[in-house]
Amino acid sequence: MKSYDYIITGAGASGLMTAYRMSLDTYFDGKEILILDKENKNSNDRTWCYWEEGKGEWDHLLAKKWNNIYFRSTDYSEVIPLDKYHYKMLRSGEFYAFLWEQIGKKKNILHIQDEVISYIDLGNSVTVKSRTAVFETSKLINSIFHTDLLTQQDKYPYLKQHFVGWFVKADDDVFDDKVATFMDFNLPQNGNTRFMYVLPLSKTHALIEYTLFSEHLLPVSEYETAIEKYMEQIGIKNYMITEKEQGNIPMTSFPFEKQNTKNILHIGSAGGWTKASTGYTFALTTKKSKELVQFLKTEGDLSKFYKRSRYWFFDLIFLGVLHRNNELGSSIFASIFKNNKTQDIFRFLDEKGSWYSDLKIIFRTRPKINFTSSFLRNLPLILFG
Ligand SMILES: Cc1cc2nc3c(=O)[nH]c(=O)nc-3n(C[C@H](O)[C@H](O)[C@H](O)COP(=O)(O)OP(=O)(O)OC[C@H]3O[C@@H](n4cnc5c(N)ncnc54)[C@H](O)[C@@H]3O)c2cc1C
Repeated sequence: MKSYDYIITGAGASGLMTAYRMSLDTYFDGKEILILDKENKNSNDRTWCYWEEGKGEWDHLLAKKWNNIYFRSTDYSEVIPLDKYHYKMLRSGEFYAFLWEQIGKKKNILHIQDEVISYIDLGNSVTVKSRTAVFETSKLINSIFHTDLLTQQDKYPYLKQHFVGWFVKADDDVFDDKVATFMDFNLPQNGNTRFMYVLPLSKTHALIEYTLFSEHLLPVSEYETAIEKYMEQIGIKNYMITEKEQGNIPMTSFPFEKQNTKNILHIGSAGGWTKASTGYTFALTTKKSKELVQFLKTEGDLSKFYKRSRYWFFDLIFLGVLHRNNELGSSIFASIFKNNKTQDIFRFLDEKGSWYSDLKIIFRTRPKINFTSSFLRNLPLILFG
């Protein structure tokens, strides 16, 4: 049984970013590191969008960035200039290639394509079983997501951000490539929170994504019909679909950190790095993977990495409302965007706001009655976890 200082299971956004940061830090040069993923991660299997203030670490890899976003609902519609912020789009193929190139320079980091079957913390080490081998490690950093954890409980509200996206090329200049449609709720809601993203790469080329924040997935044909109808609605007739993507992102305040042990740390969506109220994960992963690599240099007990903040409570209350009244999404988001500066909203969602600006956002969000009753309903979880 081969032994490693660190094994990273899953080489997606969080696993690969962690390995990349370890490869850049000479502290880890003397450590044996193994990366295990069942897939050969090198394709455009997802498109990441995120907002960021000023310049960012991945700017040289971006497919596009926008200075304006468009919010549209029946209550409120506006093109919003982002000022110091940009909304950025990164395609995973570029991202994986860049990170693998750097990681490949390090002889102490090995990558094996294999499916992980199980892992167990034995107290002084962790045993990881894959399809073809058994490995031992001092520390396991795991990003493989176990959906069962969420489906086998009903204590914490669990919604999904699920979507189908089409990259389309139109015959004419039909898109305004200076504006990213962040949320267009001007569609039948059918009792859910349903909206469209339109992310133009040029005047003729865009990613259009039909997205729901809800409990149940739809048949693929339903997302696709909605995109077709939307294209018609915004007057786009002649176009070609060049690529498709599909996703299902967990939205929950489930305490993933309780699965961590002294020698096993869960990261990425599996570690609760997905913002429960929005499904956004990429920017938080950029931040957390940096913190993690510093943490690994000074601390042996991985269960100490997680720190709960007030945003956990805010997200729990928000999800409590959407879980019970899924049809309210459009008016809730409209009240947030209408009554607050976008910079304050982004800071709030990035978990970097001041108490004062956070409370302003909370008190301006409607309908108040639903938030008050979600707060009361979730009080036992807030107090006792
Ligand atoms: C299509 C799509 C679009 C998204 N868009 C955005 C966005 O715009 N903005 C944003 O912030 N977030 C977005 N997300 C959410 C989130 O950023 C991504 O899901 C992100 O990839 C999560 O990173 P992760 O490391 O947790 O998981 P992943 O990147 O999914 O990595 C997990 C890895 O584990 C591997 N794996 C799984 N099971 C096993 C096993 N048994 N053995 C070995 N390996 C295994 C998988 O192959 C995968 O490579 C999107 C998600 C999807 C699916």
